[in-house]
Amino acid sequence: MQTLSRRAPRAGVALIFAYGAVTFAAAQEPERSASTEPSESAADPLDAIGGDVEVTAGISSAELRGHVQALSHDLLRGRPLGSEESMVAAAYCAARLEAAGLRPGAADGTWLQRIPCQRTVYDEVPELALTLNGGDAETLAYGAGFTFRGRASDVDGLACVYVEEENEVPETARADVALVFLTSAGRARRWLKSAGHPGGAGFGLVVVPNTRAKVGAPARPRPGSMLPAGGAATLPAQIAVRGEAASLFEDHAVESIALETHGRVERRDDANVVGVLPGTRAGTPDESYLLLCAHRDHVGVKPLQEGQPAPEDAILNGADDDASGCSVVLELAEAIAAGERPERSLVVVLVTGEERGMVGSRHFAEDPTVPLESIACALNFEMLGRPDDLVGGAGKLWLTGDDRSSLGPALRGKGVEVSADPRPEGNFFVRSDNVSFARVGVVSQTLSSYNMHADYHKVTDEWDTLDYAHMERASAACLDAVRSLLAGDWAPTWNEGEPKL
Ligand SMILES: [Zn+2]
Repeated sequence: MQTLSRRAPRAGVALIFAYGAVTFAAAQEPERSASTEPSESAADPLDAIGGDVEVTAGISSAELRGHVQALSHDLLRGRPLGSEESMVAAAYCAARLEAAGLRPGAADGTWLQRIPCQRTVYDEVPELALTLNGGDAETLAYGAGFTFRGRASDVDGLACVYVEEENEVPETARADVALVFLTSAGRARRWLKSAGHPGGAGFGLVVVPNTRAKVGAPARPRPGSMLPAGGAATLPAQIAVRGEAASLFEDHAVESIALETHGRVERRDDANVVGVLPGTRAGTPDESYLLLCAHRDHVGVKPLQEGQPAPEDAILNGADDDASGCSVVLELAEAIAAGERPERSLVVVLVTGEERGMVGSRHFAEDPTVPLESIACALNFEMLGRPDDLVGGAGKLWLTGDDRSSLGPALRGKGVEVSADPRPEGNFFVRSDNVSFARVGVVSQTLSSYNMHADYHKVTDEWDTLDYAHMERASAACLDAVRSLLAGDWAPTWNEGEPKL
């Protein structure tokens, strides 16, 4: 690899991110993955991951490869939502947009639309204390007498309300009640949903006893994934009671329960990177935007299997998914910024948390930094690193939801080479961030060349498996599409009855 010259201003970005604080844990914790020892200095993560730092008007395979190599670098450890590494990836993207000449687009004038995330880490074995009818008490240990799913917090003195039939689910949720379902977990979930309490929202705990469930040894729960604070995070824990203790519930012998989790909440901000390039109508009532989106995050590092030796490589690099999309968007932004100012403004959103349920794009759609009604189209870019023979191979792309809006036909009418998604049965229209924008009414579809390769969500989704000549040609088609949409003389519309989600 050539070492490219550094032309971008960096100081401002360094101050914003304080990424100097990032220490690559891989070096100190070899048990997490054997292949992660950084050979470079960890003093400046952006130096360590390298990448393409040249600003040019053209889009070349070398530049595309540089971005993919940086974002899918082992040092970024699969950049999951809520990780320091995700923020290094954010710093990289913001530095590239700044160098290209975009302006920070978050509401606070920075590049980062912050998304507070959290997870719980357990220092000791959680305990469930049962108070039985008549006053006797019994304490169950996590792993042996019970397990839980979801975010558990300490609760005390919850009265048990037993539910054997669907019509016994209380109409009004109460935080001082533990709902005990004497039915299957699946049925409990469905009953809660149809009673208007999805996930048990509003109740203190949801308990499902199962006398046949295997009783294990007392254990600490694994720390879960980082998730956005709020939302699903506020639902009550779902408790599965096992073995003999379960029969106490089946006999309605438990009067009240208390949960002591010994959990500690770990908090960390993640962020969407937002950049704007004002068009010639910026600041006028006619200003409208083309939004370009790709997801910066991936799924992180494979957890170690108990009793198994550490695998040689546990890092899910996500080179195609979706370092490729980010790479294309960064180059498109650079190319547009280097050219004549278009009529429409460009807003670039490199979102986080797609892999955890479109967290970042939902966040942007709920708290947009530009008026939603002024977004003429939101183009999302997912997995464009390998050619797909079903649409003609190298350089060719497909568009999800092609029959749902006028976008695909209009682009083809303007000479842009883009096919309809050749695998409609895969339902890719709803499987990426475009759906978050579609949900709020913005015409939004995804460009991709995903060929169903076997490295999807595997440790083998590495930068050297991508076809950069294909990406260069595909990016040229993307640039045609973007230029056409930025010209400002047309906008796509949903077809009748769309978007059906
Ligand atoms: Zn993806």
